[in-house]
Amino acid sequence: MKKMTIDGNTAASHVAYAFSEVAAIYPITPSSPMAEVADEWATAGRVNMFGQKLKLAEMQSEAGAAGAVHGSLCAGALTTTYTASQGLLLMIPNMYKIAGELMPTVFHVSARAIAAHSLNIFGDHQDVMACRQTGFAMLASGSVQEVMDLALVAHLSTLKSKVPFLHFFDGFRTSHEVSKIDVIDYDEMKPLVNMDEIADFRARSLNPEHPIQKGTAQNGDTYFQNRETANPYYLATPAIVQEKMDQVSALTGRSYHLFDYCGAPDAEYVTVLMGSGADAMEETINKMNKEGHKVGLIKVRLYRPFVTTAFINAIPKTCKKLAVLDRTKEPGSLGEPLYLDVCTALLESNIKNIDVVGGRYGLGSKEFNPSMCYAIYKNLEAKESKNHFTVGIYDDLTNTSLDFSEKYDAAPEGATSCKFYGLGSDGTVGANKDSIKIIGDHTDMFAQAYFFYDSKKSGGITVSHLRFGKTPIQSSYLIDSADFIACHNPSYITRYNLLADIKEGGKFLLNSSWNTVEELDKNLPASVKQLIAKRKVKFFNIDAIKLAGEIGLGNKTSTILQSAFFYINEQIMAYGEASDFMKKAVFKKFSKKGDAIVNMNYSAIDSAVSGLVEVKYPDTWATATDGADWNKVADDKYFKEVVNPILILEGDNLPSSAFNADGSVPTGTTKFEKRGVAVKIPKWIPENCIQCNQCAFVCPHACIRPAINKEGAEKPANYTTKAVTGLAGFEYRMQVSPLDCMGCGVCADICPSKNKALEMVPLASIEAEEVVNYDYSETLPKYDEIQDKFKTSTVKGSQFKQPLFEFSGACAGCGETPYVKLVTQLFGDRMIVANATGCSSIYGGSSPTCPYTKNEKGQGPAWANSLFEDNAEFGYGMNLAITARRNKIKTYVEEMIAKMEAGEGCQHSKDGVQICKDWIANMDNTEGSIATSEKLLAMVEGCKDCGCNLDELCQKIYAEKDCLVKKSMWIFGGDGWAYDIGYGGLD
Ligand code: SF4
Ligand code: SF4
Repeated sequence: MKKMTIDGNTAASHVAYAFSEVAAIYPITPSSPMAEVADEWATAGRVNMFGQKLKLAEMQSEAGAAGAVHGSLCAGALTTTYTASQGLLLMIPNMYKIAGELMPTVFHVSARAIAAHSLNIFGDHQDVMACRQTGFAMLASGSVQEVMDLALVAHLSTLKSKVPFLHFFDGFRTSHEVSKIDVIDYDEMKPLVNMDEIADFRARSLNPEHPIQKGTAQNGDTYFQNRETANPYYLATPAIVQEKMDQVSALTGRSYHLFDYCGAPDAEYVTVLMGSGADAMEETINKMNKEGHKVGLIKVRLYRPFVTTAFINAIPKTCKKLAVLDRTKEPGSLGEPLYLDVCTALLESNIKNIDVVGGRYGLGSKEFNPSMCYAIYKNLEAKESKNHFTVGIYDDLTNTSLDFSEKYDAAPEGATSCKFYGLGSDGTVGANKDSIKIIGDHTDMFAQAYFFYDSKKSGGITVSHLRFGKTPIQSSYLIDSADFIACHNPSYITRYNLLADIKEGGKFLLNSSWNTVEELDKNLPASVKQLIAKRKVKFFNIDAIKLAGEIGLGNKTSTILQSAFFYINEQIMAYGEASDFMKKAVFKKFSKKGDAIVNMNYSAIDSAVSGLVEVKYPDTWATATDGADWNKVADDKYFKEVVNPILILEGDNLPSSAFNADGSVPTGTTKFEKRGVAVKIPKWIPENCIQCNQCAFVCPHACIRPAINKEGAEKPANYTTKAVTGLAGFEYRMQVSPLDCMGCGVCADICPSKNKALEMVPLASIEAEEVVNYDYSETLPKYDEIQDKFKTSTVKGSQFKQPLFEFSGACAGCGETPYVKLVTQLFGDRMIVANATGCSSIYGGSSPTCPYTKNEKGQGPAWANSLFEDNAEFGYGMNLAITARRNKIKTYVEEMIAKMEAGEGCQHSKDGVQICKDWIANMDNTEGSIATSEKLLAMVEGCKDCGCNLDELCQKIYAEKDCLVKKSMWIFGGDGWAYDIGYGGLD
C-alpha cells in the first residue's frame, strides 16, 4: 500500500479498473473523470488484476451505457460504469433488469443533484435516492480514503452476493477533493477475490456451449412468486458486506461496519447521516463532547439492504433523541427516505423512548459545516425539537430552517488552511493541484484540496481551498478561517470580501502592480486595509503580470504565484526543495512543448523571490476610512438584491423568499455585471475604419457595436466619430464596452482594413474615457434611416440591430456565441429557444445573470432548458403549443369575420372584416404578421369592453395577444448548434 495524493474519482476508478473487463459509459459531471482516467490507463496499457486491459465503450447516452452494461454482464464479462444525476436516472430501467437477474456489478456514482427548478451539477443524494427501489445494494463513502476502501468492499461483495451494488460518494465534495490517502495495490486486492465466484458468474452467462434463456415474459400466475425468489440473496447480502469490510479492515487497519457509531458512549443526542457530511459532523461532536455535551453520530455505510438490527445496535443505550439527516428532497412525502427508514426501524423494534426528527441539508453542494452541525445538536438539546427542518439556508417562507448563525469552529488545532482566489482558466487551480501533490507526496503531512468554481465558462472566479497538517483531515467543508489568503487578480480586491476569513497574524499575498504603500493605500478599499492592520496580517505584494510579461509568458501568472506561495510559507517545506519539485512538475507538464517553454516556466519560478515585496503598512490602516470603492453596483433592484450578492459570493445569505418558486428569472441582467476582466481591449482608430461592421459581427460577447449619432449632436469630449459612408447627416463610431470586453482580440484580428482600425491596448489606458463613451452610445436612438439604408440581411446591416444576447459567460473568443448573437439580432424580438444542456445552456443560462435581453419595447428571446437528452422533443412541444394557440386565434378571427359580415359589431370594428382577413392571410409571414397584428390588437383592445355583441370574441382574442405575431422557434444544441424549427421559423 502506498500513499498518494489523489481525488475521489481516481480512487473509485482505481478499484473499478482492478475488477473490470468492460466499462460502458456516458460522461456526466462530476463522474466523467472516473471514465477519463480509466480510458487513459487503458490507452497507456495498464492492466487489471487479472492481467487484462479494460475495454471501455462510450455510448450515446446513459440509457445506452446501462443497456450495454446489462448485455456485457449477460455475456459474462466483469463490467462497471460511472455516472451521476439524470444520467443515473436514465439507467434505472436497466438497473431493475440487472438486479432482477442477480448480476454482480458495481456502479460508481459521484452523487449529484437532479435538475428540477434549475440545473445543478453539484453534490447531493437526490440521484441515488431515486434508485433505492431498483434492487441494487447501496454503499456510501464519505471521504476519498473511504472511496478507495469501500469501492473494494462493493466489488468483493457483489461477486459473492450476486446482488449488484451502487457505490456512491458526494459529487465534487468527495469526487473532486484531492486528498492524501493509502492506495491499495492490485496485488493486495487479488488475494481477497474468490475466483470461484467469478467462475460461477461466467457459468451463468449466455453461451451457446451451455445455453439458457433469460428475460422471459411471465404472467400473473408466476411473476410474483418468482420475484420473491431473490429474497435469500438480499437477506444474505449484509453479512457478506460485513465479511468483506472485515477483510478490507484487516488489510488497511481502518475498520468499517454497516453502521458506524462515533462519539460519546453515553450520548443522549445522536445524528444519523451518510456521505461526506459525516466527517464534518464527527469533527463537531469531537469538540462538543470535550465541552461537556453528550453527543454522537451514526454513519450509514450500507444503506440498502437496510439492516434494522445493525442500526438499532449502533444506537447508544443512553440516546434520547435522533436527528436523521437526508441530503435529498422528496416534496410531498411524510419525510425523506433515511428518516422514514429510521422511523420504521425503531417502530418495528418497538423502541418508544427515542424521539426522532428529520432534516434536510446540503442540497446542490450547499455548504455543510460545523456551525450547521452544532445547530442540529442544539435543536436536539432543545425541549421542543423542530422536525422536518432544513439547515444551511434561510427559509423565510415555510420557516423550516434551523438558526446556524452561531459560528462553531471545530477544525482540530495544527492544520494550516490556505485560500486562493483566481480567475477561471488563469491556471490557479492547476497550480494548486500541483502544490497539494507536492505537499502530500513529499512531506509527512496529510493534505486536502477542494476547488470552488462559479458557473462562467471562463473568466469567472475560482477559490482553491488547501489544508495540510500532521493529523488526518476530516474538514469536509470550505475554509472559513484561513492562515493564508492569496488574491491572484487585482480586480477582486474591490469586488469580494476577500480577507473576511483571515486569521489573526495570517498572511496575505496580492498580485497587483501596486508595489508601494502609497499605491496600495489608494487602491485597497478601506475595509480591507482595516482588516489587514487590525488582524496584524503579514502582507505581500507581487506584480506577477509584469514579471510574466518580461519572461514571455504573457498573462500566465500562476507559476509565479505558486512559487511565491511556497516562498512565504517556508513552514511547509524549505523553499529550495519546493522549487525543485515545482520545476519537476513543470518539466513533466511542458517538456513535450520544448525547452523554451520549460525554461520560461523555470524563470517564472525563480522570478517570484525577487518580485515579492513585503508591505510595511502603517498602523493607521486599522482606522482607514478611505480607499478604492467597494463593489460599485448597478442601480437595478433585482440586480442589487439578488444577483449581486451571488456575484460577490454572498448568495448563501439570500433567503428563500428572494427566489421565484418555479425557478424563472428576469432576462437582461449580464449588462449590470461589468466584470472588467480583460487585460487588453480594442481601441478604435477612426481614420482607418471602412465601416464594414465585421468586428461587431464576430465579437462573441456583443461588446463592440457600431454607434450612430446625428451630425452635430452633443457628445462626450473623447467621442470621436466619422461621417457615415453613403448617408448624409449621421456620424459613425465603433464603440467597445470596456468592462464587458473579454479581451480576446477577435475583433482586431478580423478587421479587414489595410491599416487595422482596431488596436488592442491595456484596459487601464482607455477604461475611464471608454466607460463614458459607451454610456453615451447606449442613450442613442435607433434611426430608421440607418435601418432603411443598410439591409438587415447583410453583415453590415445586421450589426445595426440590437443584439438581444450580450456579455455571456462564454469563454473569451468563443466561436459559437457570435451566431447566437446574430440570430437574436435577426429574430430575437420573436424568439423562443429550447436549449439543450451543455456549453450553450451554461453560458446562456447560468445563475445569477441572463445574457438574453430585451429591446426598448420589452421584447426579447424567451429561453428555457429542459434536459441534455430531450431538447428536440422539448422544442417540439413548445412548437405544438404555439401552433395550437395561434390556430385557436384563427378560429376566433374567422368567427369575428362571420359575425361582422352578418352585420354585428360597433364603431371599433368599422374596417374589421378587412383587418381580420389581412391577419389570417399574413399570420405565417413575419413582417405581415407584425403589421396586421398591430391593427387587429388595436381593434379588439377598443372593442373588448364596449358592450357590443363582439365583446366576448374580442376578449378571447385579446387574452391571446402574445401569440398574434408569428414566433421564431429555435432549438439550440448543448454545444452550440442551432436549428430554427417548424411553424413560425425562418421565412
Ligand atoms: Fe469582443 Fe473580444 Fe473584441 Fe472584446 S476583444 S470587443 S470581447 S471581440
Ligand atoms: Fe472598422 Fe475594422 Fe470594425 Fe470594419 S472591422 S468596422 S474596419 S474597426
